[in-house]
Amino acid sequence: MSQKFVESALAVKDEQFESPLRPKVLSDFMGQETVCEQLKILIQAAKKRGDVLSHCLFCGPPGLGKTTLSHIIADSMGTNLVATSGPAIEKPSDLAGILNSLQKGDIFLIDEIHRLNRSVEEYLYSALEDFVLDIVVDSSTNARSVRLPLNPFTLVGATTRLGLLSAPFRSRFGFSTRLDLYPIETLCKIVIRSGKIFGLSLDLETAMEVARRSRGTPRIANNLIRWIRDFCSIRSEGIVTLPHAKEALNMLTIDHVGLDEMDIKILETIETRFSGGPVGLQTLAIAVGEESHTLEEVYEPYLIGLGFMQRTPRGREITPNGKRHIRRNS
Ligand code: ADP
Repeated sequence: MSQKFVESALAVKDEQFESPLRPKVLSDFMGQETVCEQLKILIQAAKKRGDVLSHCLFCGPPGLGKTTLSHIIADSMGTNLVATSGPAIEKPSDLAGILNSLQKGDIFLIDEIHRLNRSVEEYLYSALEDFVLDIVVDSSTNARSVRLPLNPFTLVGATTRLGLLSAPFRSRFGFSTRLDLYPIETLCKIVIRSGKIFGLSLDLETAMEVARRSRGTPRIANNLIRWIRDFCSIRSEGIVTLPHAKEALNMLTIDHVGLDEMDIKILETIETRFSGGPVGLQTLAIAVGEESHTLEEVYEPYLIGLGFMQRTPRGREITPNGKRHIRRNS
């Protein structure tokens, strides 16, 4: 049960739960200062010109705020956000339907844009550059294409894997940026803010404890604080103290630096089955029973960030700090 919770904390987006916590304005969006400064300028400049915003590409691990920023951009520009994801647009006609419904200046968010079908991607090019769609109206020998003008819009692409986007596609985005894992201090502020929204008053030490176990990711911080709220409503009549928070977090088998069972399994597997590495990504993925892209996008960034693991040209290796950590845990 606890492992399932951790998996969902890591990977699953749940709009119903996330939306009350989602910052609505840039001033509530904590951290990522450079990105926020750049976006402020882009937004102000577009408004001053009376023009639509340039197409934007956000890259980074899940749960760092890519969707949130897209909502904030739409609100700041006073336009609508239309959101979909790469795999949901199966054919060019799906894309044509959405693009044709956009109003001037609307923000069109494609999450997981690296999973967009190649034929759809190519179809998108003329829409991004000239705001027109070239539609083939007859598939027989009389095939001809018709130009459909579109209202100017802004595409926001969100991806966890920038490297999978073709160079021509990437070059169509006027603004491209990477979101990094959050430092503990920023996560601590996010935890306090979310706690307030849930009606909890958290002291600094408790908020820091949650922040330390959030793997640099606001979505996980929010999921942990939601779990602590539920735990304390049953075990301590809603009163949250550091010992209660620790007990709640320990129940999820998340250790004091935020590692869950899969992180530990990855480190232990490299150490014991592959003599510390190097081991190739695919081999490691099979050995731990996880998809290689999940290892790469979800687990590795944090383990590498903590200095417990490293990527070398020959494969993944555990570091001396990683070895010390699993020895202490065992
Ligand atoms: P992504 O699209 O990158 O997967 P989201 O934008 O959906 O991530 O963010 C996940 C949740 O984390 C949001 O609901 C929001 O409440 C919270 N969040 C993300 N970034 C921040 C931030 N910088 N400040 C405060 N909360 C944030």
